[in-house]
Amino acid sequence: MTLGKTIRDSGIVLRTVKLGEADRIVTILTVQNGKIKGVAKGARKSGSKYSARLETGSVVDFQWISSTKELVRITQTDTLQANRYLREDLDLINSTARMLDAVDVLCEDHSPHPDLATMTIKALATMNEMKSTNVCGAFLFKLISLEGFAPDINSCPDCSRSDNLEFFSPDKAAFYCPDCASLNMIHTLSATRISLQAIFEGKLAAVLKSIPSAVALEIESMAVAMIEYHTGHGLRAVSV
Ligand SMILES: [Zn+2]
Repeated sequence: MTLGKTIRDSGIVLRTVKLGEADRIVTILTVQNGKIKGVAKGARKSGSKYSARLETGSVVDFQWISSTKELVRITQTDTLQANRYLREDLDLINSTARMLDAVDVLCEDHSPHPDLATMTIKALATMNEMKSTNVCGAFLFKLISLEGFAPDINSCPDCSRSDNLEFFSPDKAAFYCPDCASLNMIHTLSATRISLQAIFEGKLAAVLKSIPSAVALEIESMAVAMIEYHTGHGLRAVSV
């Protein structure tokens, strides 16, 4: 990489932090260049060339100056997908925060994650379009699998039984039968494992059309428990 060169890529705004009077520090997961953290000078001035384009959860096309420093200089941004509903409803705000935080935690700085970035862009667009948080849990489980922690959902790890697997262990990443389950496991709704199986078989679109919100919420909280256990990092959520 030539230093001082202008690079252009698209990516998801994972977080933004105010800096001084008018600037903003922005973390963006790009499609080709991994995670970029940069300063957008004057981003908070009215009429700025970045204004309203660096919101968390939006997808942007942007340019920055390559550097060995941790913070690069962002020179230009354009919105590709504003995803504005994700910032207008409390449930959507919460689920979006968890998704972006999970992506942030699971991506190492500067190594490219094109599959993960593309999957995140799609999931946010779906959530914005459906105005529903149902996709969040499925996304988090796919993210976990992409990082190599796919849960065991087809048979009990202790006795190999494949029926009545109602208990989920976030730390062992598996469903257990009632005989092998321990007290600290999550007693799941019977539709939860079936929905997860369908999600892993690539039937996400069909699942999203029919999933009861209690099941979607359970899948989301199971995924959050797994990510928190395996990364040792609590996922952000806006408290009510
Ligand atoms: Zn068992």
